[in-house]
Amino acid sequence: MYFQEFLYSRFANPNRTELENALADLERATYGLAFASGMAATTAIFHLLKANDHVICGHDCYGGTHTFFEDIAANMSIHVSFIDATNASAIAAAIRPKTAMIWLESPSNPLLNIVDIQRIARLVRNFETHGHRDITLVIDNTFATSYFQKPLELGASISYQSLSKYINGHGDVMAGGLVTNDAYLASRLKHLQKTLGGTPSPFDCYLVKRGLETFGLRMRAHYTNALAIARFLEQHPKIRKVLHPGLDTHPGHVIARRQCYAFSGVVSCYLNISDSTVENSDYETVSDVVVKFSQTLKLFKLAVSLGNTRSLIEIPSLMTHKDVDAKHLQTLGIDHTLVRLSIGIEPITDLIADLKQALTVL
Ligand SMILES: *Cc1c(COP(=O)(O)O)cnc(C)c1O
Repeated sequence: MYFQEFLYSRFANPNRTELENALADLERATYGLAFASGMAATTAIFHLLKANDHVICGHDCYGGTHTFFEDIAANMSIHVSFIDATNASAIAAAIRPKTAMIWLESPSNPLLNIVDIQRIARLVRNFETHGHRDITLVIDNTFATSYFQKPLELGASISYQSLSKYINGHGDVMAGGLVTNDAYLASRLKHLQKTLGGTPSPFDCYLVKRGLETFGLRMRAHYTNALAIARFLEQHPKIRKVLHPGLDTHPGHVIARRQCYAFSGVVSCYLNISDSTVENSDYETVSDVVVKFSQTLKLFKLAVSLGNTRSLIEIPSLMTHKDVDAKHLQTLGIDHTLVRLSIGIEPITDLIADLKQALTVL
């Protein structure tokens, strides 16, 4: 009956149910759940764990996820190993008797590394058939989105995404979502959702749901613009290296082609700035040059978000990864010359002209 289903808004409300059903449909999944932010969804998923459980997490995951697993998990006696997930045998080697969850991101943020989801899912299921306890494989699908990648069909237990990014797409809502085909996980997560209380407002659900009307159009525009920009930057003498899974020079290109319908709208690149560039300029450090470049851009706003209709630029070493220790940054390959571009849906000629003029400051 109507009043039983919608008894209290934190348990369920009509707008949220509509969004949750749409999220499930997008990935041809059975169950969908929406949260107040991506991190609220992370909190709920994390509470599937118990003290002394072990978690394996991709070492180049989203900064918030890294902090969560490094800081909060440790306080709750949950042990986490950060592993390079592009190496499936390193994942297999890290599995312990107490391993209860594997959390991976593909493409990863900001390096756009690709994880072979199907291979890792098979490997996990193989452990399970040989007597290992169930391992929940979570894929953070924020970058590829439900439009380009369906992690459940590749064997994941939970497909997770920050709806604040591409799905909402306009940079004006915070929300998170997850989908699963597992009835037990779904009922447990539903219980955690209403008990932990990180639920989105009905109005935010309405906005995200309305945004889905143009989701396909936007994703195709993000993707074609991003690929054109990746190719443009790859030829530019002021760019040292471009990271985008759509380029055939990308180490994960073949896997990405197999597991995604297309590649998303984020392009990272290393600017070609040497110490002599700095010496012969008015700038004091490499970071000063990178900041100047970002400020010279007219269409790309300096911001940490991504997946908006308008283009954004982010400098990981100064912004999202500022608090990560220097040694870990070095292992990952994040230095001051790295910038992450979230390519919007503006006319491609305008975006390329803007990048061209800003690169002259280097
Ligand atoms: C932004 C983001 C999150 C967290 O989502 P919020 O909605 O900001 O809480 C998680 N994973 C990735 C890859 C993200 O980009």
